[in-house]
Parts: sequence; structure tokens; C-alpha cells
Amino acid sequence: MRELIEAGEVVHRALKYALDVIHPDMPVLELCEKIEGFIIAQGAKPAFPANISINNVAAHYTAKKGDELRIPRNAIIKIDIGAHKDGYIVDAAVTISLGSNAYDGLVRASYSALKKAFEVMRPGIKAWQIGEAIEGVIRASGYRPIYNLTGHRIERYNLHAGEVIPNYPDKSASQALKVGDVYAVEPFATNGRGYVVDGGSITIYRLVRVKSKKYQKYVEIIYEYSNNLPFAPRWFPQIPDDFYEEAMAEGVLYGYEVLVEEGGGFVSQFEDTFVVEEGGARPLARTLELL
Ligand code: MN
Ligand code: MN
Repeated sequence: MRELIEAGEVVHRALKYALDVIHPDMPVLELCEKIEGFIIAQGAKPAFPANISINNVAAHYTAKKGDELRIPRNAIIKIDIGAHKDGYIVDAAVTISLGSNAYDGLVRASYSALKKAFEVMRPGIKAWQIGEAIEGVIRASGYRPIYNLTGHRIERYNLHAGEVIPNYPDKSASQALKVGDVYAVEPFATNGRGYVVDGGSITIYRLVRVKSKKYQKYVEIIYEYSNNLPFAPRWFPQIPDDFYEEAMAEGVLYGYEVLVEEGGGFVSQFEDTFVVEEGGARPLARTLELL
């Protein structure tokens, strides 16, 4: 519990720092490295690469090695980061709109949905009822939730530990919250169709097997630093670029597709990680206090 609370404070400060330093024309690579460096300087480790997803990109974009992408002047930007202490992970995200104010309503929709989710979270509530609250707020704001993205239970060294928190009343998410459960809740709102699809590129990977005939040396380097948590190739300059595709084919690595909105809609997201407590839930990154 102490590690979780500390990881949450690191994520809170790192998000605040990211909102402080981000500016139009900034290289996304520089932003990712600054955020991850900040997390390390605060005594934690990145639980996954900083995700900087712009406009219709909903999730899973981090800077590639030598990435030249820059923050646009007019854009809606999701900053989704994680830190862990000894495997105790906190996952949280904010969205900002740069340039015109055209996307403020969209930003507000997912913010208000996360706030509502926090208000209804307590022991005994079913996961789908949180989804019902989330969809209600987003629809009332004039947008759609992303139906095929969800929040998720978190365990030690396991970012997506099975049970989900949907962004609509999906009755298959029937589990009731219990005291001590740790859940990331992440409403996504869009002015598009409400679904994400694979965008055709991969910037984030995860080890799924720790034994490899051909690649044992590289697998050990990755496991040593990231365990089974997601990582970016730019973290390992000593590993050659052709390793990743071959290791995926061999079933050693899983690659996370960059996810884009199916209708080309723009997307906003807010996320926090909560511990379920008697009578409510404790927000570990205090994301709602950042805006
Ligand atoms: Mn996240
Ligand atoms: Mn998450």
C-alpha cells in the first residue's frame, strides 16, 4: 500500500510536470524522455512508456527511436503515463487542447465522466454500473464513449489483470468492487464513431515469454529493466531494430498496435488508478485535481 501511494504521488507530479512543459512544436520524443526521466528522478520506474496520443490517435503511441513527430499547434493531446515502485503500478492520464478552444467540450466530457465514476465507486458496485455512469455523462455532453476501450484491474507487475471497467453498461463486466481492489478507470470520449481500430504501427511492446533460443541475451536485458511490463525500443539502444518483428513472430514479444478512432474522430481521455476503500475509493494519482 505504501508503494502504491508513493507511485501515485510520482504520477501526479509527473502529469503536472508534463502539462507544464508541453508546448506546440515540441518533439514528442523530448516530451516522452522528459516525463520518463522525471519519474526516475522521483525514485520510481516508468510502468510503461509515456503515451502521447494526438487527435484521432486514441492510445498506445510513444516516440520511436529518432522520432521527428512534433506537438501540433492546434491539437487535442492525451498524456497517459504510469509509474511503479517494486511492481506496484499507478496508471493515469490527462488530455489537453492546444491552440484554439475548439476541443474544450471534448476534453471536459471525459474529465466529467472520470469525476462521476469516482463519485459512484464503492465496495459492492458492479463494474458495468460504473460504465453506465461514464456513458451517461459523455452522452449528455454530446459525445460518444469509446466502446472498445476499458479500464482494468491492476495487480503487482500486471497492468491489465483481467477484469475490466467498461465505458458503457456492459453487463458482462459483472464483478462487484471489493475493498482493497486496485482499478484503473479511463473514460474516453470522441466526436467520431465510438470505436478504435488498429492504426497499422507498433511503438510499444511487452515480453510474453522470458525464454528464447535465438534472443536470450536481449530478452534478459528487457526482463531485467521492464519485467513483463510494456516498454519502448528506444529504452534499449543496444538491441538491434530487426529484433522486434522477429521476436513477435516467435511469440516472445507482444506488440501493441497504435489505436485510432474508426471514424477519424478526435478523442479525449482522463484516467486515474483507484484503491477501493470502505465507503468509496481513493484516487492514487489525483488526476481530477490537475485541471
Ligand atoms: Mn493509462
Ligand atoms: Mn490504463
